[in-house]
Amino acid sequence: MDSFEDLLRQAEIAHGHLCAGQILGVRMAMLGCKRLGLAEPRTTDRKRLVTFVEIDRCATDAIGVVTGCRLGKRALKVRDWGKMAATFIDLGAQLEAEGETPVYKGIRIAALESSKQRARELYPQIEDKNRQQMLAYREMTDADLFAEQWVGVPMHPREMPGYKSARITCAICAEGINYDRNVSDADGRILCQSCAQPETSYYKPLGG
Ligand SMILES: [Zn+2]
Ligand SMILES: [Zn+2]
Repeated sequence: MDSFEDLLRQAEIAHGHLCAGQILGVRMAMLGCKRLGLAEPRTTDRKRLVTFVEIDRCATDAIGVVTGCRLGKRALKVRDWGKMAATFIDLGAQLEAEGETPVYKGIRIAALESSKQRARELYPQIEDKNRQQMLAYREMTDADLFAEQWVGVPMHPREMPGYKSARITCAICAEGINYDRNVSDADGRILCQSCAQPETSYYKPLGG
């Protein structure tokens, strides 16, 4: 794995700016990989790591850079809980199975609320919060920055990065549906999420 400074530079380029979130994200991801014993998450250990992130903010981009986990590779999963936390999962460490769903070992790491206060204490003379946190988050210990917990994460084969899915067509809109995201209505018709529940769809057609 590259050094902290190298990874931070790569994160800055990918994200568009250097910020406290990049420092936090790089450190969180480096710690996660270290705990799992995955020294080369972007190369040798590439197929072993899946990361769940719990927020879509600055640190998320940094986590993607360090781990190599990408949304488009199905190795970065978003659970939008608005929390500065991520779980790093080793697909080489299966614990058990819940039915046909294997459970994998992972480490969940959450940024401590107290880290902001600690940054204020370390650099009270700096008023700009981002600058204050950027300095402090570089030097604070992992224990001052993060809470860690070993967890089991059930992941159905269809959620795995390399899963080959059947492609099914929606009976209403005729668009193709991948990864078993289709639903059946009361008449047994196969529908996409949007056609099945138009009232909860994230978009509404204009006009008409
Ligand atoms: Zn940022
Ligand atoms: Zn449809």
